[in-house]
Amino acid sequence: MISLQPIPPLDTVPAPPLRFADRTHRMVPSETRALFSMAARENVVSLAGGMPSPEALPAEELRAVLQEVLAAEGPQALQYGSAQGDPVLREQICDVMAAEGIEASPDEVLVTVGSQQALDLVTRVFVNPGDSVVTEGPTYVTALSTFAAHQARVVEVAMDQGGVVPQALADAFALLAAEGRPAKFFYTVPTFQNPTGRVLGTDRRREVLDICRRAGVLVVEDNPYGLLHFGERPHRALCADAPEGVIHLGSFSKTLAPGLRVGWARAPRAVTDKLVLATESAMLSHSGLAQRAVSRFLGTRSWHGHLATARSLYRDRRDAMLDELAAVMPDGVSWTIPAGGFFVWLTLPAGLDARMMMPHAIEGGVAYVPGTGFHTRGGERHLRLSYSYPSAGQVREGVRRLSDVIRAEWAHGDASRLQEAVGR
Ligand code: PMP
Repeated sequence: MISLQPIPPLDTVPAPPLRFADRTHRMVPSETRALFSMAARENVVSLAGGMPSPEALPAEELRAVLQEVLAAEGPQALQYGSAQGDPVLREQICDVMAAEGIEASPDEVLVTVGSQQALDLVTRVFVNPGDSVVTEGPTYVTALSTFAAHQARVVEVAMDQGGVVPQALADAFALLAAEGRPAKFFYTVPTFQNPTGRVLGTDRRREVLDICRRAGVLVVEDNPYGLLHFGERPHRALCADAPEGVIHLGSFSKTLAPGLRVGWARAPRAVTDKLVLATESAMLSHSGLAQRAVSRFLGTRSWHGHLATARSLYRDRRDAMLDELAAVMPDGVSWTIPAGGFFVWLTLPAGLDARMMMPHAIEGGVAYVPGTGFHTRGGERHLRLSYSYPSAGQVREGVRRLSDVIRAEWAHGDASRLQEAVGR
């Protein structure tokens, strides 16, 4: 037996001080994450998370697919691979993108650990501390965390029902250029946006591309929901009409399974080359097993059938949410009507605050995400509801509970307003 020599005790020497990098100061838990523990309580219907439905995750098929991968190409699947990603999968990703009008070649594609990593890598290769990134307001909460972690300055541009407001976008670019700090990129989720469910209209797509091109600003198009459309056809991606000016991020998280952690970036070659280098330093290479599982699923199972099933499941839940909202919400509450994706964005009457209302909602048995999480500032009157995870029955129950909470909050506000008026 080997005897290990004890080293003299170190307990008289203090542990080293933790000299964290400046960038960690802006790494704070997201509002959504902090809410998950509350939302997970028994008896709470959570309309907060944006997770796929368990019924839409093809566990049985993936079990068989993984077995086939290990039997047919085990050593390759378990080996290190290229940082850019499996070449066969990159070709299949080009076929997946073709459904939204994108004509890409596999050498422009980088496989990533979900589109979240793609966003982190893109930010890493473009953003120096203090650089400006323009986003829609509201925008995807974890994109804000990524930009904060890279010490970017985030400039929000207003949206309306038709997506980002073109004139506001042009004004933001002009202002930043005049300050001598032109935007590094415009981050957008143009199709079934998280958190609003909105779609950037067809004419606006052209207008936005035109504004970005004239301002010399790259577009980062984040598109995890594009193929989950409830109408007949998908929308044409921004990247389809301006491949040189758009970095397109995609993901199998919402369409197949987030646990596989397979997403991608499609970018002009010069950008992809940098992203590959950034991947090497971050993680050497991606999971060969996960990539081959996705690749075999796409190659041997019915991708289109799987998508059709997922769309119909989410459409039913969207319908349940919209029907119930229309039936029970009091006057003064409004909401978006998503034509795909996972989310509805609800606006409360003036005077109510979704964040302040949250503890009462949890008491009332329903959870949502307050709008403030999706903005750098503001958003108090809004909240995000998701219909993707709970069953249609739970969705309806959650909306009924939310309506009760809003009515109680409103009545309480009325009482305090009356008290204030009488006291004056
Ligand atoms: N972008 C958006 C807009 C999202 O909603 C999400 C997931 N919620 C992501 C990116 C990240 O997804 P993933 O890394 O699982 O592909």
